[in-house]
Amino acid sequence: MLIDCHVHLNNYHTGEGATPRPTEENVRILFEAMAANNVDHSVVLTSYKVDVDRPSVEHVLEVLSEDPRTTVIEGLRWRGDSRTDLFHMEERIRDGVVKGIKLYPGYDHYAINDPSLESVFRIAAKHDVPVMIHCGDTYARTAKVRQAHPLLVDDIAVDYPEVRFVICHLGNPWFQDTAEVLYKNDNVYADISGLILGNFTYEFERYLNARVKDMIMYMGHPGSQIMYGSDWPLVEMGPYVRFLESLEFDDEAWENIAWRTAAKLFRIDTSELGDGEAATTPE
Ligand SMILES: [Zn+2]
Repeated sequence: MLIDCHVHLNNYHTGEGATPRPTEENVRILFEAMAANNVDHSVVLTSYKVDVDRPSVEHVLEVLSEDPRTTVIEGLRWRGDSRTDLFHMEERIRDGVVKGIKLYPGYDHYAINDPSLESVFRIAAKHDVPVMIHCGDTYARTAKVRQAHPLLVDDIAVDYPEVRFVICHLGNPWFQDTAEVLYKNDNVYADISGLILGNFTYEFERYLNARVKDMIMYMGHPGSQIMYGSDWPLVEMGPYVRFLESLEFDDEAWENIAWRTAAKLFRIDTSELGDGEAATTPE
């Protein structure tokens, strides 16, 4: 059983003049990639902007129409002209169609510990949904990377102990800082997504493998806080599943990292997934 807790339905490599691929088409490609790589469920994160290449959360919800293979997390739009209407976001969370919130600090020019986020964290606490946070290196040069430093997650983890936070991308390249924040705070999780673009080179895969093993050595017990995620379509699913396998977790840690922790955090019904073995697993 495998849950990918970090995928997108945006268009990325659209050249000038290219026709943006419709979301329906991206969903079809997602399901094909999942089937080809034995991924049973994907957590879809919407963007911090809406444009021809980045569908709105409303559109993504409509296209996926609560497909049991997917969970939707709403990307917060917090700066610029068209900001997230928190009232409507809370309605979607209350209705259970959105299962969490994704922050894009740095990209969206605010820091992880920006005081204005209190209203967002109160909604997460009230409805007990996780807050995922882009941490570390940014895909866009216009982003401010310091604002996305994983050490800042410690500030909010302490101030909002009732909220569960997810450090995306292990805070790459600040792996040791992420390990400390995870070790110190039980309400912080991390996903291993997006450590590369496209495919791995042999050297870089070895480098990442060593960094992740260092983190685990420092934290002691990684099994309950780290989750599998890819960042598809920015990375290919196949090489990423093989990267997870190369980390050689023991059976218990593997189960947690591959699906169990994500299933609990996002309240994914696993009884219909995989080969059914999870149906008997206690919560
Ligand atoms: Zn991502």
